[in-house]
Amino acid sequence: MKILVTGGLGFIGSHTVVELQNKGFEVIVVDNLSNSSLNVLDGIERITGKKPIFENIDLREKSAVQNFFKKYFDIAGVIHFAASKAVGESVENPLLYYENNINSLVYLLQEIKELKNANFIFSSSCTVYGQAEKMPITENAPVQQAMSPYGNTKQIGEEIITDVAKVTNLNSILLRYFNPIGAHPSAEIGELPLGVPQNLVPFITQTAIGLRDKLSVFGNDYPTADGTAIRDYIHVVDLAKAHVIALQRLLNHKNLEKVETFNLGTGTGSSVLEVITAFEKVSEQQLKYQIVERREGDVIEAFANTDKANTVLGWKAQSSLEEALASAWKWELKIRS
Ligand code: NAD
Repeated sequence: MKILVTGGLGFIGSHTVVELQNKGFEVIVVDNLSNSSLNVLDGIERITGKKPIFENIDLREKSAVQNFFKKYFDIAGVIHFAASKAVGESVENPLLYYENNINSLVYLLQEIKELKNANFIFSSSCTVYGQAEKMPITENAPVQQAMSPYGNTKQIGEEIITDVAKVTNLNSILLRYFNPIGAHPSAEIGELPLGVPQNLVPFITQTAIGLRDKLSVFGNDYPTADGTAIRDYIHVVDLAKAHVIALQRLLNHKNLEKVETFNLGTGTGSSVLEVITAFEKVSEQQLKYQIVERREGDVIEAFANTDKANTVLGWKAQSSLEEALASAWKWELKIRS
């Protein structure tokens, strides 16, 4: 069965390609290498023994997307990761984000809705909840006004998919990720942030390896137990496995609605200081950090209620925070060696 993975050389996409190939799917990766490299194909091959088919296509080019589906008319499902994802950059350059994240989605859906098997998995985010009133956050929590153009593209993306599914063959699962971290346990693939990392864990590992002077902890005066912000950190391999399960649900026509939404997190919130302590333990390194002002746009806490994913999808995150951090550290050591 042929599965298209857009953005399949990126962080979450590459781990998902591995899990798909492990389950026997034939994977076709589309990526424009804007935030990834061809070496990832070799990493995937070293883990699975197989290189996926690769097409270097920019999804902003409508004719290229059309031509792709002329060539691969027998695709059984699509997992759509390709997007720009830097929140700060999206504030600086909103049109880049609307063009990439929205146009690409529209061009893809225009073709996918015509397929015999119009099965579509979409990478969404817990940012759609903003600062939710109740913890842990269920899928029924209201979507709040987006805090950045990036966040807005995820909300608009969900709406576009819902509108299209109402009037076409499209069946879709929207996966709202909490905070993906870590790397494949083999350290053959992992996260490769360009420039200064925006996310906590790559910043921690880059600081520990000496690439950054010290970690800035944004605020220790939040109304949380230790004053630092709380997030739900999920191992990227657990996240990748959820995509395979969601895809199988669509392929087997087990979905109860044309568009279903699931939170993907561990269900446990960890503060920034807890993450630092856990990292120091698994890496046996002491991390240099300083407390600085709160960062604009950061919510106080966000962690998932995962009951729906546990019971309906039959998926549950398996890895602990320590395991995820250990894999991130192993990856950092490997790429800098
Ligand atoms: P990533 O940047 O590592 O991967 C995205 C991939 O898409 C890259 O390989 C990039 O080259 C490719 N790409 C971007 N624009 C493209 C285009 N126009 N045509 C073809 N390829 C294109 O990002 P990631 O962390 O793996 O995230 C994957 C998805 O998950 C994104 O949609 C992101 O918004 C979403 N998401 C990520 C996080 C996170 O913290 N990493 C959290 C929530 C949601």
